[in-house]
Amino acid sequence: MAKYQLEIKDGCIGCGNCQAVCPKTFVLKDGKSTLKKKIIDKITCEKEAAEQCPVKVIVIKETK
Ligand code: SF4
Repeated sequence: MAKYQLEIKDGCIGCGNCQAVCPKTFVLKDGKSTLKKKIIDKITCEKEAAEQCPVKVIVIKETK
């Protein structure tokens, strides 16, 4: 089963959208988004959070 690796690159502006869209995975700490989980089995709200990030720093990669 595919797994997915999440990463937040440098440049997060702390807008909070990812946490609002997908609170099970993203949480703001000290004004920056951090990941509650880095490896996920299934993409749900993470895709929407990545698409909506205004600075496009959320990366989702499929792992082998
Ligand atoms: S949506 Fe993007 S810029 Fe906004 S808090 Fe999340 S990672 Fe940072």
